[in-house]
Amino acid sequence: SEEHKPMRTFTKSHKLDNVLYDVRGPVVDEADRMEAAGTHILKLNIGNPAPFGFRTPDEVVYDMAQQLSDTEGYSPSKGLFTARKAIMQYAQLKNLPNVSIDGIYTGNGVSELINLSMSALLDNGDEVLVPAPDYPLWTACVNLAGGTAVHYVCDEESEWYPDIDDMKAKITDKTKAIVIINPNNPTGALYPKEVLEQIVQVAREHQLIIFSDEIYDRLVMDGLTHTSIASLAPDLFCVTFSGLSKSHMIAGYRVGWMVLSGNKRIAKDYIEGLNMLTNMRICSNVPAQSIVQTALGGHQSVNDYIVPGGRIYEQRNYIYEALNSIPGVSAKKPKAAFYIFPKIDVKKFNITNDEQFALDLLRDEHLLVVHGGGFNWKNPDHFRVVYLPRIEVLKDAIGKLTDFLEYYHQ
Ligand code: PLP
Repeated sequence: SEEHKPMRTFTKSHKLDNVLYDVRGPVVDEADRMEAAGTHILKLNIGNPAPFGFRTPDEVVYDMAQQLSDTEGYSPSKGLFTARKAIMQYAQLKNLPNVSIDGIYTGNGVSELINLSMSALLDNGDEVLVPAPDYPLWTACVNLAGGTAVHYVCDEESEWYPDIDDMKAKITDKTKAIVIINPNNPTGALYPKEVLEQIVQVAREHQLIIFSDEIYDRLVMDGLTHTSIASLAPDLFCVTFSGLSKSHMIAGYRVGWMVLSGNKRIAKDYIEGLNMLTNMRICSNVPAQSIVQTALGGHQSVNDYIVPGGRIYEQRNYIYEALNSIPGVSAKKPKAAFYIFPKIDVKKFNITNDEQFALDLLRDEHLLVVHGGGFNWKNPDHFRVVYLPRIEVLKDAIGKLTDFLEYYHQ
């Protein structure tokens, strides 16, 4: 009878078996529990500029307020014409070849488009080359789509540039594409043209699609310039991602885009798949699309942050020096974005589990960082620091980390 039936329980889809997104995972859950119990946590874990006093340019907010009543309805699936025209001009300034308006898609952040672009491409067993360390959404979306993320190593000893030999060694007859994240999260690396050319050559030889995540392309320091890899590959099919979350400090509005370029003929069928998934989600947030033109064409407030005297620049210099002055910690100087990925001497501290390290740091010092494993880094010897907080706050964090490490032994 009904009474003796075992209780039915619900388990998550097996599609999630190989999916990991620890940037908001178990250590963060513990931090939330501690906060709920009244503990103040110093959070250096999320690349979200607004809570740290970075404001979007006034004209962008003004523009959205003006347009709000005109953006109540759905837009075309790929996005508003004005937004896509502005993105198209931006793509032309970055020398992306063979871009047309129908090859530009807006999304609810780059995040939605990463997911969509992998879902439309991959069959079970298809492989995609993804960097290690990576922004873990890439690995997660490849695996969620049924593919296999195969990690190539970025080399700390070479400014965290991709190891081209490792990349080549990881290619099989199942490899469909290569992902690069440039500028990089979590390392802060910026790839020079010579490195990009080598990657293009690998993609050319093995007939791979290039996916390039360039969301930090306007946060480049030290007078360096960002090169879009697609500009070097007119004969290949490339998909370039960017958005306003970081450059305009409006991560909460959710607006990003992707741009198809180069040889689109070879990807005709894939593009049909992209269009189908784009139609199915109807459109991205329309008020957020409505400000793209003003944001891209207007006052670039970010430029004031990334030069000497600017907050991001000065905070980068501080955190770089301060981390390197802690015994057992070393870090390469980031050139872009607002992350640093220090190395920790695992022998000195007997560290075998980096997630445990992050948890211990959280419990003892109320300081929240993400362990390297959260970025698909295999060895337990790194963690990521977001250096968006003001220097006074970073000083506090460095003090806590120094105290913690003085007696830490796993
Ligand atoms: N790509 C990289 C490398 C990121 O670091 C982030 C956010 O941190 C994203 C994509 C997602 O950005 P959004 O969805 O806000 O556009």
